[in-house]
Amino acid sequence: MAMNVQVRAQNKALIGIAMPTKSSARWIADGNNMVKVFKEKGYQTDLQFAEDDIPNQLAQIENMVTKGVKVLVIAAIDDTALSEVLQKAADKGIKVIAYDRLIRKTKNVDYYATFDNFQVGVMQASYIEKSLDLTSGKGPFNIELFGGSPDNSNAFFFYNGAMSVLKPYIDKGMLVVRSKQIGMGKVATLRWDGATAQSRMDNLLSAYYTNAHVDAVLSPYDGMSIGIISSLKGVGYGTPKLPMPVVTGQDAEIPSLKSIIRGEQRSTIFKDTRDLAKITVSMVDAMLSGKQPTINDTTTYNNGVKVVPAFLLKPVSVDRNNWKKVLVDSGYYTETQVK
Ligand code: BGC
Repeated sequence: MAMNVQVRAQNKALIGIAMPTKSSARWIADGNNMVKVFKEKGYQTDLQFAEDDIPNQLAQIENMVTKGVKVLVIAAIDDTALSEVLQKAADKGIKVIAYDRLIRKTKNVDYYATFDNFQVGVMQASYIEKSLDLTSGKGPFNIELFGGSPDNSNAFFFYNGAMSVLKPYIDKGMLVVRSKQIGMGKVATLRWDGATAQSRMDNLLSAYYTNAHVDAVLSPYDGMSIGIISSLKGVGYGTPKLPMPVVTGQDAEIPSLKSIIRGEQRSTIFKDTRDLAKITVSMVDAMLSGKQPTINDTTTYNNGVKVVPAFLLKPVSVDRNNWKKVLVDSGYYTETQVK
């Protein structure tokens, strides 16, 4: 009897879900999917978006702590900015799951639910490798590199994964970075901002490509790819005389899928937020019932204080040949949404 009461009370626990921004559709899907799955399991949720503003996210998390959430699920904007608020949470016994993005420089993070971030970068770069037929020794080709936000450790995993494929070709001269801008110190894009990527691409094109064709652009995120493609179109790319370079992306967002179908952006990486939501909810469920959550990685994600046990899901590379199968047949989008 006593146990029943405990189980029921526990099932009603309030879960705080802090997402970074609504400006990218993936986070809205993440938030909504989690609320749905948490509700199905009887949990209450407090879902907040911080519009990429760090103090705003801190205030939202403080507020969740005050409200008495039992678990915080956080996709951080700046992954080292949360130490103080997470100490307050720990003092109240609140558990913390780093959602998609690792939370760094604190011991107060229990688990990490994410996709294989290094593999995302490998897939982006492999798409370039395949499209330019680099394995058959074709080239040299010109490439420019873009990285994600330097305050988000995923950006480094994506970049390092991509460079594990591209660097040997750069070293051999089969891929040429005319700008010589290589390394996250030079290619990072604060807040993954599309407009920032667009203006950097404008500068690259006018400084290094007035007499040369850019053949590939490594872009880590769809919102940046859209900016990069606008810049390219602005100087006439996307015609038979000046074909679009191979531009990658990530998140399978609708504007990018439309662009892929039009033949502009060439690929993206789909990370099924329904699966990430399910894994996260199962971690929460396990923790609140005193069980070990399922994890499949205990070595990769050192956050500067400890290795955070993680569950890594598998990303999927998407292009014009498989978007229907991967995204429509799986029920993630309807065909009319994408076309
Ligand atoms: C996520 C990516 C996303 C990027 C920008 C990263 O932390 O893992 O899926 O493209 O943030 O929102």
